[in-house]
Amino acid sequence: STQEQTPQICVVGSGPAGFYTTQHLLKHHSRAHVDIYEKQLVPFGLVRFGVAPDHPEVKNVINTFTRTAHSDRCAFHGNVVVGRDVTVQELRDAYHAVVLSYGAEDHQALEIPGEELPGVFSARAFVGWYNGLPENRELAPDLSCDTAVVLGQGNVALDVARILLTPPEHLEELREMIQLPGTRPILDPADFLGLQDRIKEVPRPRKRLMELLLRAATEKPGVAEAARWASAPRAWGLRFLRSPRQVLPSPDGRRAAGIRLAVTRLEGVGEATRAVPTGDVEDLPCGLVLSSIGYKSRPIDPSVPFDPKLGVIPNMEGRVVDVPGLYCSGWVKRGPTGVITTTMTDSFVTGQILLQDLKAGLLPSGPRPGYAAVKALLSSRGVWPVSFSDWEKLDAEEVSRGQGVGKPREKLLDPQEMLRLLGR
Ligand code: FAD
Repeated sequence: STQEQTPQICVVGSGPAGFYTTQHLLKHHSRAHVDIYEKQLVPFGLVRFGVAPDHPEVKNVINTFTRTAHSDRCAFHGNVVVGRDVTVQELRDAYHAVVLSYGAEDHQALEIPGEELPGVFSARAFVGWYNGLPENRELAPDLSCDTAVVLGQGNVALDVARILLTPPEHLEELREMIQLPGTRPILDPADFLGLQDRIKEVPRPRKRLMELLLRAATEKPGVAEAARWASAPRAWGLRFLRSPRQVLPSPDGRRAAGIRLAVTRLEGVGEATRAVPTGDVEDLPCGLVLSSIGYKSRPIDPSVPFDPKLGVIPNMEGRVVDVPGLYCSGWVKRGPTGVITTTMTDSFVTGQILLQDLKAGLLPSGPRPGYAAVKALLSSRGVWPVSFSDWEKLDAEEVSRGQGVGKPREKLLDPQEMLRLLGR
């Protein structure tokens, strides 16, 4: 049975979901071998290309992932696009089990007129650009305008706003919006009326956040704070109960010059609460529009079921519905919400379910060739994967380039240059 032999497992995607699933499998099975396939030349997914540069402590999870990658029962194969260079069916033939952990690489469209104008970007692309994602390195957003509008108020929206407001020399430090040097908040106290009474009902982390906002919006600043605000060259604010209707073009029609927002009000109670337009609109001039209303997963391969509405692979606790031996974890399993620890918990569940199925004899019996078969397919197609030790060479190069300019690292942005550095 597969019990005595080496279970050959592969994971698609090397973000937190891929690495935490691998960690669980290696820890709880003494012989399992895990291959991780990644489309980028470099590992770690959104930990490298999403998490903001002023949150360096979040990136410490990379140390744990590196320990996993160093296991002699784990191998990293970068530069392999699953669905293009190798199909999911080919992986299923080569392995006892396949785990899809390929995240959410698209963005939710605004679906309003003017969205295509220069000056309008998805937060996903903007974050990719400031984090050195190769496909976004030529985004070149024009930052010379006075006002940027960020649509959405989630964590990613706040990251984007903070990065726009922060002078580059402060980006090594963690500072929260309200204390951000050289900035002043514009918060309308009317937006916060009645909040005091409702704060008691909300869960703790959100409660602290609401208290902070309430204080900033309604309390008179202290002398030092007032002086700091008075001299601040930059300002930020939060607007509630507004829904984007149209990106307004400049007079020559060639770029974004503003945004039309519908004023809304809340109707209904509890879960049924909806924001409905009052009929009033508001125009806000701006030179940059960043839509931060969510990431979205893509279908990877026609052989894998996909729910286009929820943007996830339909699954039960990580077992892909109707496809034995196929599993999923992370954002492609749950949808694009939740931090790294949420992703860790759900990846451990997927790992556990897979090992249960293995134990119960639900996975194919007999040996499987694993990477040997996939390597042959890839080389016949002219695809040359990179290894984890290749990544460590690139990592050392980035760190050494960073030392020259006083940064933790200077990221390599050009895949051709990376391959050259690896002697390819
Ligand atoms: P990803 O991290 O997206 O990993 C998916 C991997 O799959 C990627 O490496 C991708 O290249 C690869 N892949 C995609 N398609 C293919 C394919 N066809 N073939 C092979 N490989 C493929 N969480 C925190 O805890 N703290 C933070 O400060 C924080 N900041 C964030 C900031 C932003 C802007 C974003 C978007 C998220 C942030 N998060 C943060 C959340 C955190 O990044 C996610 O919870 C986590 O990355 C999800 O993990 P994942 O592995 O599912 O997806």
